[in-house]
Amino acid sequence: TQAQIGVTGLAVMGANLARNLARHGHAVAVHNRSRSRTKALMEEHGDEGAFVACETPEELVAALERPRRILIMVKAGAPTDAVIEEFAPLLEPGDMLVDGGNAHFLDTRRREAALRERGIHFVGAGVSGGEEGALLGPSIMPGGSRESYEALGPLLEDIAAKVDGVPCCTHIGPDGAGHFVKMVHNGIEYADMQLIAEAYDLLRQGLGLSPAELADVFEEWNKGELSSYLIEITAEVLRQVDATTGRPLVDVIADRAEQKGTGRWTVQIALDLGVPVSGIAEAVFARSVSGHADLREAARGLPGPAGVPAGSVGEGFAEDVRRALYASKIIAYAQGFDQIRAGSAEYGWDVDPGSLATIWRGGCIIRAVFLDRIREAYEEETPPVTLLTAPLFAEALGLAQESWRRVVAKAAELGIPAPGFSTALAYYDSLRAERLPAALIQGQRDFFGAHTYQRTDREGSFHTLWSGDRTEIGA
Ligand code: NDP
Repeated sequence: TQAQIGVTGLAVMGANLARNLARHGHAVAVHNRSRSRTKALMEEHGDEGAFVACETPEELVAALERPRRILIMVKAGAPTDAVIEEFAPLLEPGDMLVDGGNAHFLDTRRREAALRERGIHFVGAGVSGGEEGALLGPSIMPGGSRESYEALGPLLEDIAAKVDGVPCCTHIGPDGAGHFVKMVHNGIEYADMQLIAEAYDLLRQGLGLSPAELADVFEEWNKGELSSYLIEITAEVLRQVDATTGRPLVDVIADRAEQKGTGRWTVQIALDLGVPVSGIAEAVFARSVSGHADLREAARGLPGPAGVPAGSVGEGFAEDVRRALYASKIIAYAQGFDQIRAGSAEYGWDVDPGSLATIWRGGCIIRAVFLDRIREAYEEETPPVTLLTAPLFAEALGLAQESWRRVVAKAAELGIPAPGFSTALAYYDSLRAERLPAALIQGQRDFFGAHTYQRTDREGSFHTLWSGDRTEIGA
């Protein structure tokens, strides 16, 4: 019998996805450049289902039913191109190559176009959930042709996480759409993590709570509207005690956050698209600041606020922080969904935001009760221009905003950096504002560069003769 799908690249992600497929009763042909990985998979897990071990790309291709489905799970970048070049010549029109790695969506667009010329369907599929998700049920975001999804969708939906019986996998849109939304998903994840970290810092410094006490707070928060995987693991991390020193683990971990690049891509692309994703950007920059040992060392002695003893904040502070966190989180997600809308329009993908919220409810790192609220928001008869104005979120922001202001003010007063909370509030106030000081900026631009401005009371472009008699002329 022929295998229904092949997996090439059997490091942790590929091996776990192959096992997931096999455990769901699919015959899986497996291949890896170094044979030792294939051998290890067969020895350790070969009894979990119907695997066909293959030593070469030719063997893998020969083991598959047609049209062939091959899932590539190798290191993103040049290795992916190398593997595509190995397999593409062996394939026939109608066959499918699926890249489940963390590819940049522009690479996926390029690869899709090149393979389409050769009659091969190329599917860029975002896969979220890490190694555990890959084995037990990830959230999968496949792009590519509709036709390829018909052949691939049932398999992928089968191994994806399920929430209320609904698979966390759906066709996202043509070519790079899947990898684009996976990228923004990761950007949102950065923002969410940064906000939680700021909440932790504010409570710890402001209220003087210990990590174990904070673990209780987050556990409590996890029962309400903030309920999410990230809040849950925050409590776990805060409760962990270091075996060698007996101190809270969080106190012995070096405070330099690392990044693999998807957050940075999200911000780079947002700049190109002109979408303000300030929450995600601040999260990327905050990681970057944490890693700049030289700058931090040089600036460590600079003065901070005097006379505000730590632990001096009032009783209601924890609840204020909880509300500020929720409000800031709404902003970060609203900005991310805005970027998806802009990308979808730019590249003609027709991505459905509601179905995205649906498949992010399970399997992935940002899974949360909250995503059900987003799904509901997009199911309204008139979907909101921004999530901020969806009735449910508008109400939540209204309820939170005074707490949010107190928290941002208190952070400034205590000298505790809260870039995520602050930028989220600034975005909220900017969108609400009747008038923005952008008018003054237009005046400045016209002054030094004759860039012209528009008026509120008449159509057209205008220029003031700044270096002449300062009369206004139509441009
Ligand atoms: P790695 O990213 O560590 O990649 C290792 C695999 O790539 C090995 O199978 C290796 O083969 C293969 N490889 C590297 N270079 C080549 C090449 N030139 N030709 C053929 N094969 C090559 O593995 P992961 O399992 O961590 O991740 C796989 C993909 O999934 C990556 O794109 C990653 O970004 C993405 N991803 C990872 C997640 C995670 O949590 N780790 C989550 C979601 C996506 P060999 O054994 O021969 O060296």
